[in-house]
Amino acid sequence: MSDEPLLEVENLRTTFDTDQGELIAVDGIDFSIEQGETVCIVGESGSGKTVATESITRIVPIPPGEVDGSVRFKGQGLQSIDDEALRDIRGDQIAHIFQNPQEAMNHVYTIGWQIVEGLKIHQDVTDEEARAKAVELLDRVGIANASARFNDYPHEFSGGQKQRAMIAMALATDPDLLIADEPTTALDVTVQAQILDLLNELQDEFGMSILLVTHDLGVVAQIADRVIVMYSGKVMERGDVYQIFEEPAHPYTQALMKCLPEFGGNAGGIQGTLPDPTDPPDGCRFAPRCEHAASDCTVGDQPAEIEIEPGHLASCIYYQQGYDSSVVQNDDLGTNANERTEAADD
Ligand code: SF4
Repeated sequence: MSDEPLLEVENLRTTFDTDQGELIAVDGIDFSIEQGETVCIVGESGSGKTVATESITRIVPIPPGEVDGSVRFKGQGLQSIDDEALRDIRGDQIAHIFQNPQEAMNHVYTIGWQIVEGLKIHQDVTDEEARAKAVELLDRVGIANASARFNDYPHEFSGGQKQRAMIAMALATDPDLLIADEPTTALDVTVQAQILDLLNELQDEFGMSILLVTHDLGVVAQIADRVIVMYSGKVMERGDVYQIFEEPAHPYTQALMKCLPEFGGNAGGIQGTLPDPTDPPDGCRFAPRCEHAASDCTVGDQPAEIEIEPGHLASCIYYQQGYDSSVVQNDDLGTNANERTEAADD
């Protein structure tokens, strides 16, 4: 087996041509995903996380969008292959599920028909085989009485059932990578936990990798192996789920953490707003909202990511040589990711 990651993204930069000038949505990010791994990209709305995932499979409309950098899937460059080859990979080896299944489904066709069509496009199956597989998938994602529900239209499914059906559609082709963009945001907390449990189970069963985008650290704790914290198109911090929850190193991650219920959860989120993506500030993008910002933070480009411990990196000047990192370390914030994960499983 090759040592190459399943997905390797290097210096990904996505911009949009707008009336206000060039809008920089993603500004030179790198990350990779190993086989069977769940990587979560977390950040507030507008941080660039959705555009980053949509740039991977070129869902981003070009123009007005422009995507630069390298995206390699199983060693193959996705930015240079033709549209037909990309379509084959998309929906077959890489599947997407979205925040709002309502919008992603076709309301004039039954749920079963939509799964069957996806199967027939990508696999050499008869109508009967496709139907049997669709019923099996609906059953597997927890739709009771799947054979009868096969003929239901989307409006006959609840929000949670629709998201389960979307997952069934995504799994129909046995993808290697599932990209899930805020898959539980529209659902209530109980159903959200059930869907995340389902994704965890299916990942074990199907051996796929998951790239999950969310604004919610609670979701991250429940499902992630590794975490990438994005802000204003840049990566602020990355590490495994334990490093991020037990020792959040970057002031932005810490600010997100303080919004969690156990820290008093500020329902309004972090104070202030993200910078204008057509005119990002010099230096650290988070400086205008950072309680530790110093004059050095507002010059040059975003600080380089510094490795704090193996696999745990933060983009903050206080981790650079000559600075005192204790200024930005917050011992009161460490929370046991194990406990969070176990609590979420209950
Ligand atoms: S570089 Fe400065 S502004 Fe940015 S997170 Fe660190 S302390 Fe805050």
